[in-house]
Amino acid sequence: MELVIEDAVFVTMAEDAGPAGGMLIRDGRIADIGRAEAVRAAAPGAEVVRLGGATVIPGLIDAHCHVADIGYLAAAADCSQPSAPDIAAIQARLRDAAGRTPEGSWVTGGGYAEYKLREVRHPTRTELDQAVPGRPAVLYHTSLHACVLNTAALREAGFADGQPDPPGGAFGRDSQGRLDGVVYEAPMFALFEQNLRRDIARMGGGADGGLVQAAGQRLAAFGLTAACDADMRRDTFAAFAEADAGGLLSQRIYGLVVHDQVGAVPQGRHSGRLATEAVKIWADGGMSSRTAAIHGTYPVPPHGSGILYFERDELTAMVRDFDARGFQVCIHAQGDRAIETVLDAYAAVLAPGAGNPRRHRIEHGGAMYPPLAARAAALGIVVASQPGFLSILGDGFAAAFGDRSDQLYSFASWQRAGITVAGSSDAPVITADPRIGIRDAILRRTGDGRLLGPAERLPARDAMALYTTKAAFACHRESEIGSLEPGKLADFVVLDGNPLEAEPERIPDIGVLATVVGGTPVYQSAGIFSGR
Ligand SMILES: [Zn+2]
Repeated sequence: MELVIEDAVFVTMAEDAGPAGGMLIRDGRIADIGRAEAVRAAAPGAEVVRLGGATVIPGLIDAHCHVADIGYLAAAADCSQPSAPDIAAIQARLRDAAGRTPEGSWVTGGGYAEYKLREVRHPTRTELDQAVPGRPAVLYHTSLHACVLNTAALREAGFADGQPDPPGGAFGRDSQGRLDGVVYEAPMFALFEQNLRRDIARMGGGADGGLVQAAGQRLAAFGLTAACDADMRRDTFAAFAEADAGGLLSQRIYGLVVHDQVGAVPQGRHSGRLATEAVKIWADGGMSSRTAAIHGTYPVPPHGSGILYFERDELTAMVRDFDARGFQVCIHAQGDRAIETVLDAYAAVLAPGAGNPRRHRIEHGGAMYPPLAARAAALGIVVASQPGFLSILGDGFAAAFGDRSDQLYSFASWQRAGITVAGSSDAPVITADPRIGIRDAILRRTGDGRLLGPAERLPARDAMALYTTKAAFACHRESEIGSLEPGKLADFVVLDGNPLEAEPERIPDIGVLATVVGGTPVYQSAGIFSGR
């Protein structure tokens, strides 16, 4: 029941803690941390684990991702590059997947990027038909803004040759105008949702081997011990609750309940690993798809000013209602026009000078320019944002925003204004790996090597805080998690390098040796805690 960890570098992230050489874990919590001799003396009978100079950091927290979606895609055939270098390799993987996909489910692959394929184009329905004839198959693009369907899947989805493009999306077509199987944007999102829900209904997402467990294992391998699921609904909540009851949750899950599902999901703290105390609302669309609601127009096609899902009065009424019912409100807002509308709604419920006791949040906040950041800071708004977008989607932002792209995701300015910024990934939109986000918050390099907003680079310690202390605050859990301090839960990660000392470029190469939640290992790559 008692465990002492020593011979390690402790990065506690605690505010004014002295150097630590040992940590005592008792009953799932940190009982003591400090000088090694003092810690040992406090628990003479404890088991001692010496880590050979490895680094111990607080468990990492993803303040905004889509856990169920991560699990759904984890079960799909890996069709990513370079491991599947051409269309023939993708066909082989889908053929394999067909063999283990139960009848009635769609054969599913994911992770491809046409620009990385030898053919430098999307696969076609005909090529998917060759691999999987006679039953539906779907292949998701790595961006999750497009997918390819075979003929059976097109039929089941109700898409036919000669049909016009649906609202908010498009179909790929061959030279004769027939559907080539590629589906872009809105109909792709709808399909993804349908397929996810069908698989949860058919296979039971919370059972042993189900998608909640698959997602948890993937996140644990990245050192994540807590995550906000930004898309909690009736069926996904049931899956998380089932996994929780079966002891299969590898993270503490904080659900952001989709606003129209609030009546269908119980509100509150259900256990130490599952809570639903927040509501999710979407105010606008995305940046690289140019559906974020902005002032002015986009300099590149399809131009326009993006999409605002709710008028100011309607959004204000929703915020007022959820605030009165005790919910933390988390609103997706990317464009400056959307952020302005959200701040108006928050200003209507937050009494001047009373702060923001429920910690209402803005999710993403990409184009929160200085005047908006000043307003958000004055209201005490918390922002959950995604540094990892910079390397993975940053070149798309630069194309869509031109001169203003240096002002996107301006983490340093936001913090200087007084905003609490929490780190997150929005996975599976990009990888859930927080090492990528920490590196990008420090370096701000796009995939093409462009420096996006050089003045907004953060020191390594501030970058780490995004995914530890700040993310804990964003979930109302700073008294329990986010730093290594006596009394807090024993959520920590053992790394083979120290992110605060490493060259920032090398942070993603730092290995996760173990991930521990409440004193129990949920992931190990080396047998550090082999007896446990
Ligand atoms: Zn999201």
